[in-house]
Amino acid sequence: MKIKPVGPIPDGFSTIDGQLAIAGRTASDLVAAAGRTPLFVYSRDLIGRRVAALRDALPARIGINYAVKANPHAEVIKHIGPLVDGLDIASAGELAMIRAAGMDPARVSFAGPGKRDDELEAAIAAGVTLNCESEGEAHRTLTIGQKLGKTPRMAIRVNPDFELKGSGMKMGGGAKPFGLDAERVPALARELIANGVEWRGLHIFTGSQALSSDAIIEAQGNVLKLAGKLSDQIGAELPKLNLGGGFGIPYFPGDEPLDLAAVGAALGEYLEDLPGGLASSELCLELGRYLVGEAGVYLCRVIDRKVSHGVTYLVTDGGLHHQLAASGNFGTVVRRNYPVAIATRFEAQGDDVVNVVGCLCTPLDRLADAAAMPHADIGDLVAVFCAGAYGASASPVDFLGHGAAAEICI
Ligand SMILES: *Cc1c(COP(=O)(O)O)cnc(C)c1O
Repeated sequence: MKIKPVGPIPDGFSTIDGQLAIAGRTASDLVAAAGRTPLFVYSRDLIGRRVAALRDALPARIGINYAVKANPHAEVIKHIGPLVDGLDIASAGELAMIRAAGMDPARVSFAGPGKRDDELEAAIAAGVTLNCESEGEAHRTLTIGQKLGKTPRMAIRVNPDFELKGSGMKMGGGAKPFGLDAERVPALARELIANGVEWRGLHIFTGSQALSSDAIIEAQGNVLKLAGKLSDQIGAELPKLNLGGGFGIPYFPGDEPLDLAAVGAALGEYLEDLPGGLASSELCLELGRYLVGEAGVYLCRVIDRKVSHGVTYLVTDGGLHHQLAASGNFGTVVRRNYPVAIATRFEAQGDDVVNVVGCLCTPLDRLADAAAMPHADIGDLVAVFCAGAYGASASPVDFLGHGAAAEICI
């Protein structure tokens, strides 16, 4: 069988007693503490280090928001909330989660198409900033604000006429369900301001999962130019501009980490020469996976080792019901291996070639294909890295009834 490489294991992990260690604790220890597999482990230390690296690289004026959908685990929100400048949510459900985690809704903005009236009501009542996705939604917001006797805080999400190149998930450029086409923004903004809303400016999100600093720098330049033009057309300075994010992490063989220093330096240069309408605007980025993705590991246990037509399968108790993206069934065309390792034999040589699969009764449930791994047997633990974002909350947990994974934040 031709060996297929696995993705790069992120920095920040170590080996203790031959095992993968996360924040100084072995995989076996962590599983014992949680009481079971499969298990997501999120490291507070790694999240904190990532935020610190961003603060180091970015100009002080650039705020950092956390996109809660990347990982809405309560302990993760509680840890990251105080480290960042704001939280971005995409539903009233996420609003309830961040409130349950003790976060102040005044630091929150809410983007997403299809906000229901009850969601708008909850957000207005809580003082959340609404990033408006259409004229219709804006008008519903005004009506609900009047009914509640409360002034809504409103920004407009712009559907820009460009996109983040090389982005894993394109969310700008051409017809989109997200945001208002750029040329219609000034009229709506003037209407909202005339209606006496608390005007919070613009939100321009151009894409996700980009590893090229050049592409991010280009998109940010375009965002600043567009925001400057729109603020001129609106005829008022922008109180705030959310520049979007899109910072990616390496998942697959050959992926290189984003050059954060280059992005920070380019932003510094842009700030020297901002369009007039942005002179005193609050500026922020909104990041999800870049903040938490590499800080999470998914651990599952080998339940069976079997051979079929000469191919060895390690069958685990995990799978795509917790880690849809690692199985290759979430936004990828060609299936490539995530970073996967045998956690309980982390230092051993990879002299076995195996398919690591999940326990679901579908051929889609693959965690690693033709991977060179140390010889593993029943009882060993498999680690899937880059599991801190879009894992537990973005996988079809009810499919086949195996139930949810445990999650711990250490
Ligand atoms: C999903 C999303 C994000 C976060 O994307 P990441 O790739 O996790 O950084 C940020 N902003 C908006 C509007 C989104 O939809």
